[in-house]
Amino acid sequence: MLMPPPDPALIADKARHVAALRAIVPGEGVIDDDAALGAYECDALTAHTQRPLAVVLPSTTAQVSAILAYCNRTGLKIVPRGAGTSLSGGSLPLADGIVLGFGKMNRVLEVDFDNRCAVVQPGVTNLGVTNAVKYRGFYYAPDPSSQIACSIGGNVAENSGGVHCLKYGLTTNNLLGVELVLTDGSVVRLGGKGMDGPGLDLLGVVAGSEGMLGVVTEVTVRILPAPESRRALLIGFASVEAAGACVAETIAAGSAIRSMSRPC
Ligand SMILES: Cc1cc2nc3c(=O)[nH]c(=O)nc-3n(C[C@H](O)[C@H](O)[C@H](O)COP(=O)(O)OP(=O)(O)OC[C@H]3O[C@@H](n4cnc5c(N)ncnc54)[C@H](O)[C@@H]3O)c2cc1C
Repeated sequence: MLMPPPDPALIADKARHVAALRAIVPGEGVIDDDAALGAYECDALTAHTQRPLAVVLPSTTAQVSAILAYCNRTGLKIVPRGAGTSLSGGSLPLADGIVLGFGKMNRVLEVDFDNRCAVVQPGVTNLGVTNAVKYRGFYYAPDPSSQIACSIGGNVAENSGGVHCLKYGLTTNNLLGVELVLTDGSVVRLGGKGMDGPGLDLLGVVAGSEGMLGVVTEVTVRILPAPESRRALLIGFASVEAAGACVAETIAAGSAIRSMSRPC
């Protein structure tokens, strides 16, 4: 993987940048110790590693806004990070930049059963959304296999999905609104609790944009009633063709299926 060459001036100025970031996020919200930075040196694409200048762990949108404004003024690069389960190196740090981690912004802010939606901070795990609504028989449909760990912010940035998405669509089809902090620190809201907002579908552009358009600080997702019953089946087939035909018929009938094969 070819990364842009780091700016030595930014690295030489590390102490000043860390002090400025600590003024925005006090306490343990800024990590600059080399050993501790090791925990953030890669995502699930572990073949590539790079320790960042520092890791910043904000707790509020106001802090995120101040961090982005500071980085915009000074030229410090930013890599947002949810749970770091990306398989594409999306949250791989830069030597002359910070990792903006969302581990502390992990609260479910509102569950609105009347409007069938939940408003959550970006660090809430995918499964955490379902866990917050299942007591009323609801769930959040997009289900990446990493759902126990991956964050909703990361799901929005990667437009993630899983086996349910054959029927219910990817993250973009279940995303109703976001709060987004732009690179200059300004805060915008796209969408809301309703199905289709007026104007351009900017929400559709944000889903899958891998953090390049802004940093997601709040997410509104659609929740659905859970199926009344479910049953797991393991079926063996004599040929790949027969298995493929079964997959096609199952999907055509409006259900989902995951297939596995083994070497003959
Ligand atoms: C075992 C395993 C199974 C997986 N299965 C699936 C699967 O079935 N389907 C699937 O789609 N993916 C799958 N993935 C990939 C990964 O889990 C998803 O892409 C997930 O959405 C990443 O979420 P994250 O919180 O870990 O994001 P991270 O890895 O932290 O970040 C991913 C990208 O999102 C950006 N980002 C993170 N948070 C924000 C934010 N708040 N604002 C703006 N940008 C942000 C990062 O900069 C980066 O570009 C799997 C990964 C693993 C390790």
